[in-house]
Amino acid sequence: MNDPMILEFTRADARRWVREPGPSDDKYTRGVLGVVTGSHDYPGAAVLGVEAAIRTGVGMLRYTGPGRVCDLVLHRRPEVVTVAGRVQAWLLGSGMDARTRTAQQRETLVAAAYSGVPCVLDAGALDLTGETSGPAVITPHARELARLLSSRGVPVTEEEISADPCSWAARAARELQSTVLLKGHQTVVSDAEGQLRVLPRATGWLATAGTGDVLAGILGALCATNAEVIVGDPRTLASVAATSVVIHSRAAELASAGGPIAALDIAGMIGRAVAELAAD
Ligand code: AMP
Ligand code: MG
Repeated sequence: MNDPMILEFTRADARRWVREPGPSDDKYTRGVLGVVTGSHDYPGAAVLGVEAAIRTGVGMLRYTGPGRVCDLVLHRRPEVVTVAGRVQAWLLGSGMDARTRTAQQRETLVAAAYSGVPCVLDAGALDLTGETSGPAVITPHARELARLLSSRGVPVTEEEISADPCSWAARAARELQSTVLLKGHQTVVSDAEGQLRVLPRATGWLATAGTGDVLAGILGALCATNAEVIVGDPRTLASVAATSVVIHSRAAELASAGGPIAALDIAGMIGRAVAELAAD
């Protein structure tokens, strides 16, 4: 495969996408994130993504999901709004399975995907790749990307992607005309033209359940707070995605200073990771 073009992505680049509240901001101008995640099988993914998005900094978060999941989310975060309304970005699919989701869940996802605002497509919403009317970033790990590419006529295995994540992220981005954030022990981000941002390796403590849901929450929040710029120039979505990886890695590093961690511990350190970047 052709060697992909690799761009350096520095902390100064990441700093650009951290938006602090201005004196005249209100909850709407700071960015409203819509979230459709979680299922009866994976209710925790919704809680983790919501927690991560809130700690990354949004003005408001609107959540839609199954009743029991909604109750769990509200129990953890009474700040969450559950009535529909305008949003600046969508986080879709974490903790859902495209094969078991209901027709109504699919309808909700499709309506969000066609709203024209930036969308993060994770896990059970990856099959909507190419069906969004606004800028989209997909967040697969190698197995999910292998399944997606194979379903689009590019047969490839998880092992092949893991052996060469840079080339496959770039190829997937061009084939799917989306920003691709390919997760793994070495995470890479490609814009739709195949330009890569390779991120520093993160702590191995991230290899635990739920950490991908936290990353998706961070990215969703950054999409909501930077929505205007992303819609104006969708290529910026790759830098926004790379920023989410920088914040996620740093939060994991801070959380794991004392040893083993769980995904919610990482979410708890996002505020500090964001504050550090803002102070740069
Ligand atoms: P998911 O596959 O959706 O559960 O997401 C797992 C998250 O943990 C992604 O952000 C991965 O990049 C990260 N991750 C998994 N394993 C490792 C590892 N060995 N080293 C660093 N990061 C990892
Ligand atoms: Mg996942």
